[in-house]
Amino acid sequence: MPALIHEIYYSLSGEGITTGVPTIFVRIAGCSLRCGITLDGRKLWCDTGYALSHKAGTEIKFDHIIKQIESLQPDHGAQVLITGGEPLEGENRQLTVLLCNEFSKICKNQNYPFPRIETNGAESIEGLDNMVFTLDYKLPGSGMEERMDIQNLSILRNRNNPLDELKFVIRDKIDFDRSVHIVHEYQPNTNILYSPVHGEVEFSELAEWIKINPVPQARLSLQMHKILWGDKRSV
Ligand code: SF4
Repeated sequence: MPALIHEIYYSLSGEGITTGVPTIFVRIAGCSLRCGITLDGRKLWCDTGYALSHKAGTEIKFDHIIKQIESLQPDHGAQVLITGGEPLEGENRQLTVLLCNEFSKICKNQNYPFPRIETNGAESIEGLDNMVFTLDYKLPGSGMEERMDIQNLSILRNRNNPLDELKFVIRDKIDFDRSVHIVHEYQPNTNILYSPVHGEVEFSELAEWIKINPVPQARLSLQMHKILWGDKRSV
């Protein structure tokens, strides 16, 4: 099945080191993880559950994707963020690579010369150039930790790219402690984001954990788009 696009829209980045930055979102349909489903009966917490199936997308010709992005930001001043679903899984990977190659040429003298890829940690980032990463490492509370490609942490460290991010979504203190262990063991040498699972951890509680047990380059990352627009899609 070819890579299918769920949506393309223009908004502000809601998370991480580019929070508040004008951003074009390219959401590719399809992800085989199911974050939040655990043996103790927790339900899916993925906030893009509507894009998990490949059937949730439409096949759009490559040139039309480029035109659509350019029509949203003709002067290329905005960040391009490729997300999902999972942009590096299966057939999505090739489309993501092609888009990044194209936009790294178009945007090379702009504020954001490389698209940002939000990836779920299960797919290898080895050998991928012309992109920066927000790499999610799934912790025990997600039920998906066994799917993580642990090599990615060494690859992130070796890239030494100040724009890369390693993201931990925290459900409870067990998750937080595990994240600290991961950072100490693999020393990923990049920005480290902590985001709470909504309804499971208080923002202030996570903030205290970060203060008490800081790891290098860590920051609390809340979802600004939810503060601005609530739990809506495509904003
Ligand atoms: S990896 Fe991302 S898109 Fe896939 S289920 Fe988890 S949160 Fe959702």
